[in-house]
Amino acid sequence: MSKLKPELEHTSRNCWDVYASAVDRKALAACADSYMRFLSTCKTERETIDYVLDAVKKAGFSETLAASTKAYARVLRGKSILLVRRGRKPLSQGFRLLGAHADTPRIDLKQHPLYEDTDLGLMKTHYYGGIRKYQWLARELALHGVVVKKDGGIVKVCVGEDPNDPVLTITDLLPHLAYKQVEQKVSEAFEAEKLNAVVAHEPANAGDEKRAKDKDRVRQRVLELLHKRYGVTESDLFSAELQLVPAGPARNVGLDGSMIGGYGHDDRSCVFAALQALLSEKTPEHTQLVLFWDKEEIGSEGGTGAQSLFFEYAVADLLAAWEPKARLSEVFLRGMAISADVNAAVDPDHLDVYEKRNAAYMGYGPCFNKFTGHRGKVGANDAHPEYVAYLRNILDKAGVPWQMAELGKVDLGGGGTVAKFLAVYGMDVIDMGPAVLSMHSPFEVLGKADLYATVLAFRAFLKS
Ligand code: MN
Ligand code: MN
Repeated sequence: MSKLKPELEHTSRNCWDVYASAVDRKALAACADSYMRFLSTCKTERETIDYVLDAVKKAGFSETLAASTKAYARVLRGKSILLVRRGRKPLSQGFRLLGAHADTPRIDLKQHPLYEDTDLGLMKTHYYGGIRKYQWLARELALHGVVVKKDGGIVKVCVGEDPNDPVLTITDLLPHLAYKQVEQKVSEAFEAEKLNAVVAHEPANAGDEKRAKDKDRVRQRVLELLHKRYGVTESDLFSAELQLVPAGPARNVGLDGSMIGGYGHDDRSCVFAALQALLSEKTPEHTQLVLFWDKEEIGSEGGTGAQSLFFEYAVADLLAAWEPKARLSEVFLRGMAISADVNAAVDPDHLDVYEKRNAAYMGYGPCFNKFTGHRGKVGANDAHPEYVAYLRNILDKAGVPWQMAELGKVDLGGGGTVAKFLAVYGMDVIDMGPAVLSMHSPFEVLGKADLYATVLAFRAFLKS
């Protein structure tokens, strides 16, 4: 055995050991329960923003900004939100920002969705974000979203969550007839244009002999149902955002119930943790900003993504209300941010894609990614070591376990987050979030202890 001095060596700490006391375990379980309710309720970016807005309004956040406003919430098109809690120090002394994304990979309906084939009513889809298509076949799917009518009226749709609701499904090929398919490459075996949802089977005018030969009677009946239930016509589907998501609530996973399985830990676990952190700190030192974006899963594009100017406009408005003489550039350059996003936990069945010394492990707390990107850090924000040192100090002082990793082996893949879109302002920013298994699948797995540690880590950061 070597005689290394233990104080010189780094050892990661397992959250279950750190939070072993009865008091901690009670708080950990309460945190997991509250998160599971949130995750079961919020399956789209709009539902998430509605939930967040409701929670912060109850906590006294105002939607109007004035010189006296202490807690402010600003929503953009129902899909992004900025939450602000004014600090004791002026905004020009910098801010503490937590940014996460509220959108999740899913299967969207096309704008001309409805058709009939072989006496089945079907809907065409176009998937959103990075999915492994086969994971979405032969399972219960719920339909969430909005239809906007010509008069501007918004019809909310949510079918498949109540146990009495019907669900939709995308069928899969039976093994008996898949001999040819199983020889194909995965990338070729599952075609996007075959991801069509089964939505109906009974024809319109059943029993009416004169109508029995009519074309597309099932399709006709779906249109009748949509009209009866939601007052919408086929043309209204042009101005709709309807999304197929895994149906049903989040579940306890493991014989010990130590994990949470559900849809959308990426990135609603960070949305939840950031919201909890914000609500627990009433009079912070620095102004706290919590920002939830849309469109991260498709490159942060669009008016509600992190590449939009929403954040900049909003901070300019804060400055105009609170400190009209300060410069915007000064505020941004002194800002500190965490791009709160999940990491890929090492999967024991796929050890070969991880580099074990620089990988994230479930149970060891929120994980920093100093950089993301792919093949030579291309497309990465690479956090400054001065900032990493500052954060290490905060978390160690708060006693929160954390880890440092990168996403997989160097030349095997990679990914991006919103960090680089914050970095352009000159602020300090780094990626951080819990490590999850089966990321981007309909049933992602998150450790309860990691979630709890993430909430505590975000709290420590926001009050620094
Ligand atoms: Mn993410
Ligand atoms: Mn993602």
